[in-house]
Amino acid sequence: MNAVPMARLRVVHEGSRVDRAGVEQAATDLLRALGRDPDSPHLQETPRRVAAAYAELLSPRDFDLTTFPNDEGYDQLVLAHSIPVHSLCEHHLLPFHGVAHVAYLPADRILGLSKLARVVELFARDLQVQERLTQQVADWLQLHLEPQGVGVVIEAEHMCMSMRGVRASGAVTLTSALHGLLREDPRSRQEFFDLARSSR
Ligand code: ZN
Repeated sequence: MNAVPMARLRVVHEGSRVDRAGVEQAATDLLRALGRDPDSPHLQETPRRVAAAYAELLSPRDFDLTTFPNDEGYDQLVLAHSIPVHSLCEHHLLPFHGVAHVAYLPADRILGLSKLARVVELFARDLQVQERLTQQVADWLQLHLEPQGVGVVIEAEHMCMSMRGVRASGAVTLTSALHGLLREDPRSRQEFFDLARSSR
């Protein structure tokens, strides 16, 4: 058993790569290309707002990953359900949003519960596809927490599917990623999916 009573790992995002002035100029050009007048009173402030919005949407907040020794030897699933997910699809730069259900089967250490939501945000605030986002959350937890298993399910609606293309409004895309016992042991896997489903 690990003797460290409480451990903190500072998770610092590599820093925003967003060039705000560049985005403002691009938004001005985009408005013009869309046949609008960027100098009209209604649109004057739009490029600045667009740049601020993208900077925020693509910058996860730093956080401390706090872990504690699993002194009680808790060996059942810990599941945080319906964690809000907001992300941007890298194919259309349109939002997709929904919920994540994130679970782990503890080994030596357990995690401050709110941190599961921060891990989701860490990867959601990026240009993404849902499959990669799901896998990144699972991989990160497996690497940093070293639990016996990890399970992640994300259910999301993609605006690029709802508002355009097939216009399948309300359609929900489901993805999952599993590690360790949740991947290898059929009973653990079933328990995880049952819990994730019951939270809907
Ligand atoms: Zn898309």
